[in-house]
Amino acid sequence: MACNRTPLTSTRPATSAGCPDIEAFWAGSRNLLRFCPNCRHFLRRDGGCTHCENGGSREFPNAHDITARLTAAGFQAVVVGGFLRKALTGLPPKDIDIATSATPDEVRALFGNRVRSNGGESHGTVLVLPPAGSGEPIEVTTFRLDVETDGRRAVTRFTRDIGEDLTRRDLTVNALAVDPHTGQAFGPGGNAGGALTDLRDGLIRFVGDGRKRIAEDRLRVLRAIRFACESDNRRLSDEAKADIRASLHLLPGPLSGRRIGEEIVKTLATAHPRRALEMYRDLGLLPKFLPELEPTIGQAQNAHHGSNDVWAHTMETLEAAEAPEGVSPGLFRLAMLLHDSGKPATAAPKQGAPGEFTFYGHEEAGQRIAGAVAERWQMSNPDRKLLEGVAAEHMAVPTGDFSDAAIRRWGRRIEQRWGAALLPVLLAAREADRAGRDRDKTLAETARIRAVLAEVKATGGSQLAVGGKDVMARLGLKPGPAVGAVLKKLAAAVLDDPALNSRETLLALIDEETSGPADA
Ligand code: ATP
Ligand code: MG
Repeated sequence: MACNRTPLTSTRPATSAGCPDIEAFWAGSRNLLRFCPNCRHFLRRDGGCTHCENGGSREFPNAHDITARLTAAGFQAVVVGGFLRKALTGLPPKDIDIATSATPDEVRALFGNRVRSNGGESHGTVLVLPPAGSGEPIEVTTFRLDVETDGRRAVTRFTRDIGEDLTRRDLTVNALAVDPHTGQAFGPGGNAGGALTDLRDGLIRFVGDGRKRIAEDRLRVLRAIRFACESDNRRLSDEAKADIRASLHLLPGPLSGRRIGEEIVKTLATAHPRRALEMYRDLGLLPKFLPELEPTIGQAQNAHHGSNDVWAHTMETLEAAEAPEGVSPGLFRLAMLLHDSGKPATAAPKQGAPGEFTFYGHEEAGQRIAGAVAERWQMSNPDRKLLEGVAAEHMAVPTGDFSDAAIRRWGRRIEQRWGAALLPVLLAAREADRAGRDRDKTLAETARIRAVLAEVKATGGSQLAVGGKDVMARLGLKPGPAVGAVLKKLAAAVLDDPALNSRETLLALIDEETSGPADA
């Protein structure tokens, strides 16, 4: 189905008048804010439809309907915040937020049973479902302004003035709003010029007085750094850096560990996690949020690492970290960030090798640190296990001199101690850990381990093809340790040779046990 790409409106946006650069940036971007007249989905930046052609992009049909109906009822309705920050700079938007001059009651009156509460109604937010029940609900939030804050949360009140709403937002790149039907853009105080210029230049700046904005909500420091790392051309403005440095005494303040952890994990998932960590370090934020990493700075390690200290090695690892399928990139990168955190506490001069160190026990020390971070950030048990598992086991991943049977035994041990999900994580961790040296050799080793583990899986995994009942029936045993001993022996035999893991063969092996010691 082809889309007619004529824009619905041609109203010019409110940009900082007369700047050809911004006009051009805006002209190149505004396709996004047009809808396909055919199916009413947003058009992409290149003018294609997000729905009826090249359907790979996100679809937001509901946004059209919601903004159109609010506007027809005499309210103002704009697309705002993260959607524009991402879409206008070529990043795939995750979701779309709508802000409106209508109060939640007015939104409810207009959309009736399409409105759902997400618990945010007192703050002005409701969810509006799509008309025909297809697609995702969209958050619609009433324009509001902050009356007072406690350093994290604000008491707000509703306003009909979009300029006021945008002025309370954290960063100029997040304080842009666009009426998708007219193409008119708005920014803090009403004028979009500054926000558009900053988006174009990739400049991350607080809206208004940075120190005040940080004092109102300390999380904004971490958010500013996250957005500065979201894509290549972004950077934190010099004023923002100065404001953060001047606000260190306020941090972390009332921020909960959970919010800090969530924000840092999101930051690690951006395009430039290393840049984020270096900013934390340069701006003095490490002692506030990740004090565990401080001792890695200046902690020399051995020459074969090629990098100067544990911090530098960790940064290289972070940059190389590629999460295995199904594992959140932010979480995996956090695991890499902490994997050697036990080294400073365990470093000891190596006998007979001046300038070299041993780090005996750094895995356990790192595991404890990873557990403490997970605890402080109130992470889920599976996430905590992943962080601890990588720290505890990253040195034990098999190398080229392991036999297939030894790899299988390692796999089984990891599975029993941490769960099978840790296996691909440890292999990815090994690849990241060795990114700076022996890359090809490491990749060949991990490829072999994957092949051996895949074979184990294909032959029934570590699950034996027989069970305790079979052992009892064949050997006439009652439940007890003797049954367990036979099963253990069978499991060891299967680890050495997975081809034995068929019911027929194992029953024969059980029969051989009649005169064996396990039977005694
Ligand atoms: P993403 O969804 O990728 O995290 P986002 O910009 O949509 O990015 P949200 O946390 O969903 O981030 O917030 C939506 C919008 O609300 C932001 O774009 C910003 O305008 C505003 N906002 C969010 N958090 C704050 C804050 N702490 N202080 C001020 N404004 C904020
Ligand atoms: Mg969002």
